[in-house]
Amino acid sequence: MDPHSPHITSTMQEKRVPSQSPLRPLYLEYFTGQEKIIERLSILIQAAKKRKDPLGHTLFSGPPGLGKTTLAQILAREMGANIVITSGPVLEKPGDLAGILTKMQEGDVLFIDEIHRLSRNIEEYLYPAMEDFTIDLLIDSGPNARSVPLSIPPFTLIGATTKAGLLTKPLLTRFSQHMRLEYYPVAYLMTIALRTAETLCFSLDEKSAEAIAQRSRGTPRILNHLVHWVRDYAMIHHEGNVSFPVTEKALEMLTIDEKGLDEMDKKILTVMLEHHNGGPVGLNTLASAVGEEPTTVAEVYEPFLVLQGLIRRTPRGRELTHLAYQHLRAPSPSKKQNDCSGEIS
Ligand code: ADP
Repeated sequence: MDPHSPHITSTMQEKRVPSQSPLRPLYLEYFTGQEKIIERLSILIQAAKKRKDPLGHTLFSGPPGLGKTTLAQILAREMGANIVITSGPVLEKPGDLAGILTKMQEGDVLFIDEIHRLSRNIEEYLYPAMEDFTIDLLIDSGPNARSVPLSIPPFTLIGATTKAGLLTKPLLTRFSQHMRLEYYPVAYLMTIALRTAETLCFSLDEKSAEAIAQRSRGTPRILNHLVHWVRDYAMIHHEGNVSFPVTEKALEMLTIDEKGLDEMDKKILTVMLEHHNGGPVGLNTLASAVGEEPTTVAEVYEPFLVLQGLIRRTPRGRELTHLAYQHLRAPSPSKKQNDCSGEIS
């Protein structure tokens, strides 16, 4: 076992964290992309080590699969601290949080994923813990119930959220750092793809890495799934030999186009075009038309479609852009008008 590995504890029923996943970079220097964030984190780590203090509370925000959990684990490892991993919806009562906080040692990291989903009473319970490292411990019950303040060891809270906008101001301002992760450019994804292939012990050519990267929606998690898929496809059909034509065939089977749009993206665009004349259309209407949860449409699909310039958000709802019309090979509204006036004259 890596002696520098932080001790990772996951609480209750929250997602299983592949703590020893070989695909997760273990140290900051191996983390590809997000340079500005890495630079800031590196300064914070060095300073905290010099001061012999815990890191300040840090919030990572951004779409799923960009590396928020990975960074939290790296921070703990770099600080030589343990990490306890939980998530907003799992913490139901203050007692859940008290149970975790009282077991932590000085400098440990508490990682709360989906922190925007913390209930209000847990959130309020967290404030003094974050600010003064004290919690109110409830003892006894019924008429004898009373709370006593209890000091807890200084710790670092790392929050992760796909929806920073839903965090309340009091919680947001208790984080000393807020870092927003961005989608990865293709060049960085290529580097990650090549490293993932190496870790999985097969060789990937640069053209294949590029084709995979282009279809990864700027997201390392999706990229890694695609690398696995290409490897499996090659194993079954080509004795494990991955070449560019093999990669292309494997990717074609997934019906992801060269812009990285999958079936659901295309369905969203098509529904907007065919049922709503290109919009504007509200999130709930759109989500029910494509048979998805509004949060999934808003958090998983829409940000990428906006980034690709295919959808724009307006106060009246979502609208297709002219790029979307081009992509769907449909005449754009202005073009339709022109065609019409052409017919009249
Ligand atoms: P999030 O917490 O933002 O949803 P994760 O940290 O769980 O994302 O990352 C998802 C997967 O993507 C991880 O398994 C990790 O291996 C990979 N990953 C994320 N960011 C990077 C990166 N910069 N370099 C290499 N792999 C990465």
